[in-house]
Amino acid sequence: MMILKTLSIIKPDAVKKGVSGNIISMFESNGFNIVAMKKIHLSKKQAEEFYKEHSARPFYGDLCDFMCSGPVIVQVLERENSIKANRDLMGATNPSESDNGTIRKMYGDSIDNNAVHGSDSEESANREISFFFSDLEIC
Ligand code: ADP
Ligand code: MG
Repeated sequence: MMILKTLSIIKPDAVKKGVSGNIISMFESNGFNIVAMKKIHLSKKQAEEFYKEHSARPFYGDLCDFMCSGPVIVQVLERENSIKANRDLMGATNPSESDNGTIRKMYGDSIDNNAVHGSDSEESANREISFFFSDLEIC
């Protein structure tokens, strides 16, 4: 199994609720090495660009408004099989369908306010990491 990087975002709902520390702790206790991290407030344009693969979906406008409604914490996580491991730790997109013990079950309120984002493939991880971080910012 290869050591891979994945991009994680702690979304505005979880930052506002004050549970970002708990979520970061879950990454660390599940074997992820945090190799880059910053708190930023996305502009609407940046949110639209980040989620452009969803631009034709009916929820796209609300999703972009939500993602720029407050600061987010973005991280690059490294671990063996990190992309799938992070998706498993996050849980299903809709918190009501997430397994117990997952981040979305513990901290998500609804499908729109679901606490975290995680890359879904190596290709999207590479795009998403370089969207937020330069090589110099990754330890
Ligand atoms: P994931 O974040 O699990 O990878 P998607 O990439 O399919 O899920 O969708 C991106 C985000 O858009 C989701 O995290 C969620 O916040 C939102 N979203 C997805 N599907 C819906 C939906 N049917 N209604 C409202 N929001 C949605
Ligand atoms: Mg996705």
